[in-house]
Amino acid sequence: MISDAEFGYEMLVCRYAELTWYPDADPRPALVSRQLGTKRRRWDTVVIEVDPEEFAARRAFGDRTLDSDLLHVVRDAPAEWTWYRDALPDSGYPWRYVRQAVHRAAGRELIEKRRRGNRIEIRRHRPYPDWVERIVAIENKPDLDRSAADVLADQLAHDVETALADEVWLATEATGDRVEPALLREMPVEAGILTTSFVGDDPGGDDVVDADAATVDWLPSDLAPSGSGNRDSETVTRRLEIAERAYGKGWRSYHDTMRPDCRHFQLRRAGRALVPRCAAKGRCPTDRECSGSCPAFSPEPPAWRTKGWPIEGGPGKGIRALLSRRRERERDRVEPDE
Ligand code: SF4
Repeated sequence: MISDAEFGYEMLVCRYAELTWYPDADPRPALVSRQLGTKRRRWDTVVIEVDPEEFAARRAFGDRTLDSDLLHVVRDAPAEWTWYRDALPDSGYPWRYVRQAVHRAAGRELIEKRRRGNRIEIRRHRPYPDWVERIVAIENKPDLDRSAADVLADQLAHDVETALADEVWLATEATGDRVEPALLREMPVEAGILTTSFVGDDPGGDDVVDADAATVDWLPSDLAPSGSGNRDSETVTRRLEIAERAYGKGWRSYHDTMRPDCRHFQLRRAGRALVPRCAAKGRCPTDRECSGSCPAFSPEPPAWRTKGWPIEGGPGKGIRALLSRRRERERDRVEPDE
């Protein structure tokens, strides 16, 4: 479970990565998301480094995630009309499910479909691009103590072993001069160490973030098995599913699970980030506690949604629209070379 401090910290690390990527080196086009991974392992912050040209081609498929069923159809849809069972590789599950995915893909205009007799044929609009360059996982732990270090060392060792990500990092907040070196030495040597300093100028005030808010203490190793072409097809598909979720979700999608329509929900400026704040609790709420079952939840009054409020639909809707626009803006920043 994410504690209050960890959720707020995660927001700041995501924004830092968005502003900076790559730390202490030339910038690389990238998308940032959070809480993604596999059933066994969920990463706090995920950075997807992209090829700008191929990313532009991916954007032509729309702004929403392509889930695993859609990817199965879209990646193998042929250039010429073909019966879908001849065109798509055997997925290992009944064809009727594949057929449903074909209908869904056509409904979203990702492919074309037509009926010939009793057969459904498909054809692609465009090839699905190879847009993912690298996947980087960051584990966030603002207060690194002995017990947290033990757990993290195991998790990062697992990440290094599976090499599902190309690179793994630990991000931790500097308390005092440095993070305890003995704790950092427990981490696998392949994991990078990023020490953040999100403390604002105002003593005792809120944390803030900007592009210089972290120091690289240790550079990570490249975990890709000697050339990214050497991953098996199952791993390649799993990585693509993660990248697709990151693309559709970004890191600001907390507005989908939290309650911006609560009268206490606010966005607080934290340097170059906007992070959630609960006026009733006087702090950043976690996405788990900020729900309809929160004891302090209070729907925004209907009057806020009509007269006198500058954004149609009230502040809650306005916050959702603002965060969605920011996600869009980050995608726009990845531009192909001229
Ligand atoms: S009172 Fe509860 S539901 Fe409302 S903003 Fe705060 S945490 Fe979220």
